[in-house]
Amino acid sequence: MTQLRRQRNVKIVATLGPASESTETIRALYLAGADVFRINMSHGTQDDIARRHRAVREVEAAVGRPIGILADLQGPKLRCGVFARGAETLQEGAAFRFDLDPAEGDAARVCLPHPEIFAALEPGSTLLVNDGKIRVRVTNVSPEHADTVVEVGGEISNRKGINVPDVVLPLAALSAKDRSDLEFVCELGVDWLALSFVQRAQDVHEARELVDGRAAIMSKIEKPAAVKAFAEILEASDGIMVARGDLGVELPVTSLPPIQKRLVRLSRAVGKPVIVATQMLESMITAPVPTRAEVSDVATAIYEGADGVMLSAESAAGDYPVEAVTTMNNVAASVESDTVYRQIIEASRTPSRHSVADAITVAAREVAETTNVKAICCFSHSGTTALLAARERPKVPIIALTPLVRTARRLALSWGLHCVVTAEVDRFKMAVVNAARAAREHGFATDADRIIVTAGIPFGQPGSTNILRVAPCDEKKIYAGGGED
Ligand code: PGA
Ligand code: MN
Repeated sequence: MTQLRRQRNVKIVATLGPASESTETIRALYLAGADVFRINMSHGTQDDIARRHRAVREVEAAVGRPIGILADLQGPKLRCGVFARGAETLQEGAAFRFDLDPAEGDAARVCLPHPEIFAALEPGSTLLVNDGKIRVRVTNVSPEHADTVVEVGGEISNRKGINVPDVVLPLAALSAKDRSDLEFVCELGVDWLALSFVQRAQDVHEARELVDGRAAIMSKIEKPAAVKAFAEILEASDGIMVARGDLGVELPVTSLPPIQKRLVRLSRAVGKPVIVATQMLESMITAPVPTRAEVSDVATAIYEGADGVMLSAESAAGDYPVEAVTTMNNVAASVESDTVYRQIIEASRTPSRHSVADAITVAAREVAETTNVKAICCFSHSGTTALLAARERPKVPIIALTPLVRTARRLALSWGLHCVVTAEVDRFKMAVVNAARAAREHGFATDADRIIVTAGIPFGQPGSTNILRVAPCDEKKIYAGGGED
């Protein structure tokens, strides 16, 4: 039997791609430590997506553990047109024009097929081309074109991405491709949907309407506008990705560490999962070992208490996908066994809000940490109770029990949650019996141990947690306990 339980709290998200789409490789990635798989809609056809989705579900069935799938929409990414010679080199100080003319480009101009951009640009605005390698400044703009002067030169080639950092673009949050992909993946059945280039909370509301409860929504923070509007975006979202790739193009890379720290703290404070993404183990695309700096970067995210760390090209297109996951797993083991880690986690916990469910969750952590119970087991339909437990970042393991496999898969992304799909229960005693069984069978406790069980009675009302019980793990003792429930 495969190992049922992870020896760490932080979760690992691995992006799938050509290097990792076979069922065997996905299984190896899972066994090495990947908890959630990301399918990036910017690459691959809908057929590729469906194949990867199916492979993950096969692995899930084979290992008998819920696995999360995160589908990542491309979003309104701007791209230039094509060049007659395929590419041109722009020299510093040269003039270069973007316009709506679909004709092939040359050293003086290229098509930028987005009229709404010209309406939003002003003289002085910056455009970044090719991951920020080229920088041009707008000198003159009309509804059909923008004249620019090259500030940092370099090669521009067919369909390169264009970033416009200092303007909130009047772009629809979802392109026609995004809408089609959204419907496609929601029908396939994914657990999380990531929205790229979110600019405002309204973008999230729009997507939520289309998703209609079929997936949880993660906002990728990769625009300066999203950093500014973060409070409202967080409120509108179910989870957050600190998408350092594009964010580092649109803002100076040196501004990323404080932004990462702030986004992680704010997300933790409201109990929504937050993922740190991009270039975490970049050198492992071509090398079997990471650099010291990369190990330190992964460790930093874990010390900050992020819910997850993510691999992009390292697992999707690199030569060492399994080694990259193993590295993250080993860094997590090293960090989480450090006493300073616990101190940082405790010090960065924010007081909880004031519902009964909050108070019970806090109490569960306090009881668990002052007695020697082996796990906090929470029963949850929607997942709300389990998210509250994760928010507490307790020392003791959390087992999230739910009758809904989709809830278990969604929660696979959250810090410390060991998710178990169990039978529907209608009496609290059965909840205790199921929790104790899961704790024993998954290696958290033995018959001699005790656990904490929290639940909301009557069952089935989201966020209605109102019971905390310290219970024996031994089934005979549970039944011998008698009682009204
Ligand atoms: P991407 O998003 O990999 O889809 O670009 C992540 C990022 O920009 O960091
Ligand atoms: Mn991005």
